[in-house]
Amino acid sequence: MTTIAFIGLGNMGGPMAGNLVKAGHTVKAFDLSQASKDAAAELGVGIAASAKDAVAGAEVVVTMLPAGKHVLGVWADILTAVAPGTLVIDSSTIDVESARKAHARAAERGCLSLDAPVSGGVGGAKGATLTFMVGGSDEAFAKGEPILSAMGRRVVHCGDAGNGQAAKICNNMILGISMIGVSEAFVLAEKLGLSHQALFDVASSSSGQCWSLTTYCPVPGPVPTSPANNEYKPGFASALMLKDLKLSQEAAQAAGASTPLGAAAAQLYALHNAWGEGGTDFSGIIHLLRGREGQ
Ligand code: NAD
Repeated sequence: MTTIAFIGLGNMGGPMAGNLVKAGHTVKAFDLSQASKDAAAELGVGIAASAKDAVAGAEVVVTMLPAGKHVLGVWADILTAVAPGTLVIDSSTIDVESARKAHARAAERGCLSLDAPVSGGVGGAKGATLTFMVGGSDEAFAKGEPILSAMGRRVVHCGDAGNGQAAKICNNMILGISMIGVSEAFVLAEKLGLSHQALFDVASSSSGQCWSLTTYCPVPGPVPTSPANNEYKPGFASALMLKDLKLSQEAAQAAGASTPLGAAAAQLYALHNAWGEGGTDFSGIIHLLRGREGQ
């Protein structure tokens, strides 16, 4: 079994570190928040006095932090304390440019590195059913795959450094756009006197079929497990969708890609967040499209 350092024990990182312990690994972890450390300690995670202390003697390091600036800051700190050859994995969702910078710094230190963002949310983190989208060398992937498998159900190697983050933001741009499309169709159906169930029955077995409709239906009723049936409690918070859409637009601008629907989705989610809905599920965007009517 492996000695693993885990930095960032929040909603996702805490349960992920707990699953590494369950799989038999020795985990030494650190977070700035006492509450996060206490919650992780209850899962059997060893708590270190600092990030540097956590990585001392670790064969693998995992970071799960809010954004690119946190990852670059923590990696700058810990890379001075790890042995060359250590594998450093970042599972946060961050911008592609910061991810590639982090890889370059790890390489300067003689370390292997992976960007391995996840989908599956807090439920997936707790149940070890996450999907990992992984960027990095074949050597780093071979070493990291068994570790990631202890925290998830699927581990997909997407190519070289940064490609895990690229896959994540492309996927979530599809998701944001498709949720708005599905929501618009339900709003139009309401105006035309077509019931939610009738639209669902037709579209779920026709060319309009997609995950936003059949798994995450934005109106209560047709899919009993969707957040719409639970007062739009997340699920996947609108604030996180906005974060990912902004990352997709930054990447599109840097790469010269034209993503007009992604840009429109980012604007609509910015408005949804400005209405104070950042903490509700992202499928609650249907309220904005109704002009709040029928909430
Ligand atoms: P969170 O805010 O709950 O946790 C982040 C943790 O990082 C906090 O506990 C914070 O104290 C800690 N932290 C910040 N700076 C630190 C530092 N310098 N040293 C040590 N610890 C530090 O966030 P989360 O929901 O766990 O999300 C983590 C990442 O996963 C984000 O990038 C997010 O976009 C991504 N993500 C989240 C979800 C989700 O559903 N929550 C789903 C997929 C991906």
